[in-house]
Amino acid sequence: MQKYDVIVIGSGPAGQRAAIQAAKSGKRVALIEKQQEIGGVCVNSGTIPSKTMREAVLHLSGYNYQNIYGINYRVKDKITMADLAFRVQHVIKTEVDVAEAQLTRNGIELVHGAASFADPKTIRVTGTQGVSEYTADVFIIATGTKPAVSPKVPLNNRNIINSDQILQMPELPKTLIVVGGGVIGVEYTCMFAVLGVRVILVEKRPRLLEFADAEIVEALSYHLRDRRVIMRLNEEVQSVEETPDGKVVANLQSNKKVLGDALLYAVGRMGNVDELSLAAAGITSDSRGRIPVDADYRTCQPHIFAVGDVIGFPSLASVSMEQGRIAAAKALGLPVHSNPANYPYGIYSIPEISFLGKTEEQLTNEDAPYEVGIAYYREIARGQIRGDTTGRLKLIFHRETKKLLGIHIIGEGAAELLHIGQAVFVLDGTIEYFVDVVFNYPTLAECYKAAAFNGLNKLASL
Ligand SMILES: Cc1cc2nc3c(=O)[nH]c(=O)nc-3n(C[C@H](O)[C@H](O)[C@H](O)COP(=O)(O)OP(=O)(O)OC[C@H]3O[C@@H](n4cnc5c(N)ncnc54)[C@H](O)[C@@H]3O)c2cc1C
Repeated sequence: MQKYDVIVIGSGPAGQRAAIQAAKSGKRVALIEKQQEIGGVCVNSGTIPSKTMREAVLHLSGYNYQNIYGINYRVKDKITMADLAFRVQHVIKTEVDVAEAQLTRNGIELVHGAASFADPKTIRVTGTQGVSEYTADVFIIATGTKPAVSPKVPLNNRNIINSDQILQMPELPKTLIVVGGGVIGVEYTCMFAVLGVRVILVEKRPRLLEFADAEIVEALSYHLRDRRVIMRLNEEVQSVEETPDGKVVANLQSNKKVLGDALLYAVGRMGNVDELSLAAAGITSDSRGRIPVDADYRTCQPHIFAVGDVIGFPSLASVSMEQGRIAAAKALGLPVHSNPANYPYGIYSIPEISFLGKTEEQLTNEDAPYEVGIAYYREIARGQIRGDTTGRLKLIFHRETKKLLGIHIIGEGAAELLHIGQAVFVLDGTIEYFVDVVFNYPTLAECYKAAAFNGLNKLASL
């Protein structure tokens, strides 16, 4: 039986970073991956394909310039699924190559096969070469998730699909039913709506993206309606069936029927734990396959850690990478500093949303004395030049200390723009920083200065 210092299970962003951190610390590391390609959902079916498709949607539809040249402006008429998928394989291949090179450079041994625990100190790997056993001092589980399934929604990989199957759709539907108003459902709703597809979004909660600031979500909802998206909130799907002429009907619990050419089921994901034989390691997962961990990502077994999507919220590639790094450092007793309160959220809706810190709802519940400063892209020269006149940036700050408590942005470049505010937030700065600093002109970054003035003016007038 081969012995390693650290064995990492799963080669997505969480597993890769855990393996690299451990290898950089001089440890002998094995990374086990059951798929042919490394990279996990992030590279192969989730983040990278969806963000590459989004880029194609924005470019080919001419979306970013329609405010300037008119709503009929297009780079390409009759956009096809093949157009959208065009660059995806290229980007995936490059990402896989880069990741493989990193693993090789760091001396990490890649083992192909499905891992399962034989006992708390032994991993059994079943691959094309047969079954092998490995032992290690430390194990890091980073097996990610897969789309949840429901007996009410019979997926057929044709016109009733989940997010893994989107790019295999032969053609753009005229009407698409999206079930699920979380990040994945909202992102695909936006992309298809921009392409001119009629989208009906069904969500059982009263609002979309329940963890985001309500005002920002309202702004997004306005955009979606403007793009003719029909939102069926507070509605649950009872059953889904195909009609004889190849359409799809979603029967809602409220007795409504929704008809479409295709249906995307985007309601939650399940942890990949079925093959792991967690019981043999003395670990249990919850009903959604999530593994409970402490603040150091340690499971109930002190030498076994779990990171990334398999531990649940926020299920972001960015955060998964960080969790992998921290877990490996903690397991090896290395000093590491990272504060989940400083982690950003990026939602690649159209327009984009990004935020950090607390929402107004959270601060109101905490009776925190806060004030808000808002800047609209339309009041900033760069916003006018780019034709994004609907974006806005919102700073929430403490009325007395003026410390930044939250940053919420909707609009072009939100995910990048957020990182300016993030630096001030992490360094415990006040919004006066934005007043005192000079930003390049014309930039969207100027929104920070305008929002800070707006907020401070509100304080002065009370
Ligand atoms: C459509 C979509 C869009 C997304 N967009 C974004 C985005 O824009 N930004 C963002 O930050 N995040 C995004 N995410 C989330 C992001 O993809 C995940 O947070 C990230 O991939 C989680 O990383 P991970 O390493 O935990 O798991 P994964 O990436 O899922 O990797 C897990 C790996 O473990 C392997 N594995 C599983 N079981 C075993 C086993 N028993 N033995 C060996 N190997 C095993 C799997 O094959 C897989 O390769 C998106 C997700 C989806 C689905």
